[in-house]
Amino acid sequence: MRFISTRGKAAPHTFSEAVAVGLAPDGGLFLPESLPDFSGDLARFAGLAYPDLCLEFMRVFATDIPPAELAGIVAASYRGFSHPGIAPLRPVGKGIYALELFHGPTLAFKDFALQLLGNLYGRQCRVRGESINALGATSGDTGAAAIHALKGHSGTAIFILYPDGRVSPLQERQMACTGAGNVFALAVDGTFDDAQAVVKAVFGDRSFSAGLRLSAVNSINLARLLAQCVYYLHAWLRLSPAERDNLEFVVPTGNFGNVLAGWMLRRMGVPIRGFKVATNQNDILYRFFTTGEYRAGALQPSLAPSMDIQAASNFERFRHYCTGSDPAAWPEFTASRCSDAEITGIIRRVYRDYGYVIDPHTACGFKDLNPDRVSVVLATASPAKFPDTIREAIGIVPTDPSLEALKSRPIVKHRLPADPEAIKAFISARAV
Ligand SMILES: *Cc1c(COP(=O)(O)O)cnc(C)c1O
Repeated sequence: MRFISTRGKAAPHTFSEAVAVGLAPDGGLFLPESLPDFSGDLARFAGLAYPDLCLEFMRVFATDIPPAELAGIVAASYRGFSHPGIAPLRPVGKGIYALELFHGPTLAFKDFALQLLGNLYGRQCRVRGESINALGATSGDTGAAAIHALKGHSGTAIFILYPDGRVSPLQERQMACTGAGNVFALAVDGTFDDAQAVVKAVFGDRSFSAGLRLSAVNSINLARLLAQCVYYLHAWLRLSPAERDNLEFVVPTGNFGNVLAGWMLRRMGVPIRGFKVATNQNDILYRFFTTGEYRAGALQPSLAPSMDIQAASNFERFRHYCTGSDPAAWPEFTASRCSDAEITGIIRRVYRDYGYVIDPHTACGFKDLNPDRVSVVLATASPAKFPDTIREAIGIVPTDPSLEALKSRPIVKHRLPADPEAIKAFISARAV
């Protein structure tokens, strides 16, 4: 299979090429040349363990990687997860499940895609005998997950920009306390969108980015999108036929990356009834799905910082499939928005009603669940990553051993202005 750009001006790429370059040469995002149809495979997929299902799915796309090698890459990517089910579907209440996506090394759903991406990069370096310099911007979790996917991989370096003071202290420690020599945590002035704009500008300097073989690790990488399809499929396969018929996946989102993966899976023949786009107070996607208008507002930092985004970069992929702006054209989407005050209230209510502790991102998903649907809420982060918010809501401080261990390690970060030239100079001096 080959991969084309949303902007239509780049030559088709193989899977490995598209993954290695991240952004298409014409500035667009990669998509499969045509979408496969899995509807005839679903019976065969039922009961497969997560890594086996992932392999069955990915081999349809990664046709340029020998199957045995791909199997090794997939196995290595999910080996570090702490739960045997990898993505357990946990019953929370009547007609309500949490799809727990936080059992990976950095306790957030981005590990699903980035562990795979790290191992794909590792293969690329071995096969081509080339180095890769990964660059990305993060509002918290992406950077941590990307860093943990690449730290210590020989032939790679990783540069992650994040808005100084706007990620949680534990998220910062996950990025800046790895002790790995190939990891650079760059704390820049401004918001996540500022950091993202700098990254785009650096990639936009074609001779610079090609010269250093820079690769994007933010949510636009093709491998991330595909890897994220798998947990929707895994969850769908575990529901009863009656539940499937009435299913709504509820997806806390900012960049539209996570929910886009589920929606693409639906286009690949998995009959998912609907999706709910759950935003925090940065509600551009909520406004889009309720009014049809896609317009950025001012960014408001929230208790769910990984969703503090007003420019959803994955939207370009969605637009590729749906031209026009009539929301009636996408009846499978509903939307909700959640203020900070509501987030704390929901954490309290879910704990009181179900004895289940959720993080502030997941809390956005628990807003106004439709009682007529079976809701599978994607639990995108462990509550242990947000101890202050949880303590304020329910008086309990959730902990996780991997986070406790970080607290005794030194923070190594680099403060820089949100300026493409300053970032390029930093990268040039340290790239592999
Ligand atoms: C990144 C992130 C999100 C939002 O993901 P999108 O790719 O923007 O859909 C939600 N919750 C957590 C915990 C995250 O890390």
